[in-house]
Amino acid sequence: MKKIIVPAIFLFLISGIIFGLYSLVNYYQKGNPILIVTPETDVNSLYAITPKKLAKFFWKKILEKTGKSEEEKVVAITFDDGPYPLYTPLLLDTLSRYNVKATFFVIGKDCENYPELLKRISDAGHEIGNHSYSHARLCTLGTSQIEEELGKANRIIAKITGKYPFLVRPPGGQYDMALLKLIQSFGYTTVLYSNNPGDWRKTDNLLYFYNWIFSHNSRGGIILLHGGQMQTIRFLPSVIKELKRKGYFPFDNN
Ligand SMILES: [Zn+2]
Repeated sequence: MKKIIVPAIFLFLISGIIFGLYSLVNYYQKGNPILIVTPETDVNSLYAITPKKLAKFFWKKILEKTGKSEEEKVVAITFDDGPYPLYTPLLLDTLSRYNVKATFFVIGKDCENYPELLKRISDAGHEIGNHSYSHARLCTLGTSQIEEELGKANRIIAKITGKYPFLVRPPGGQYDMALLKLIQSFGYTTVLYSNNPGDWRKTDNLLYFYNWIFSHNSRGGIILLHGGQMQTIRFLPSVIKELKRKGYFPFDNN
């Protein structure tokens, strides 16, 4: 009997330890989302890096711009896609009304079609990031195609704004370690997000987005919104007002 019980207990303990380690790795992967990958980030050790550390590089640039300290409540508002006729000017008017600076991850092709809109975003003092040339799912492409998607978009943006973007957000939020390393090797900084209310989903319940954003809001958080949605333009003022009321500064220059 003893011959069975001892190995059984041993097996039980071993499987407990393995399950514990597995849960821990899972917790770290889920609990510490990858927010920022700069050219200096060690991609192989990503899960050991806290979001705060990852976000540091991105914030450094913003803090320099605004003269705010790291200890302050900061949150970034980012818009993906576009520029769009109608929506982009409305969005810019809203941001300017509340004196908020945001980061726009624009699509190269749309910048080609609407260069004056990209110029307006840039002239208003917002940060411009690269969201590829054709909104391609970069994970499905080969190295040279990825280089072309990002390089082409960057050249178009630079031609219009006079500045080469160094921030990249992969379309569809799709990435893997190989892609992060590749983007890094091109010298870009990948910016992901911590707060994704899914504002591309059509609904009349704007309160849903508001509630989502504030239940996922945190110091150093990065909010992902989309530039081509009327509903986003409609709920944005209440989000900005509440962020300011709570003492967060969404990049205003005051
Ligand atoms: Zn997109």
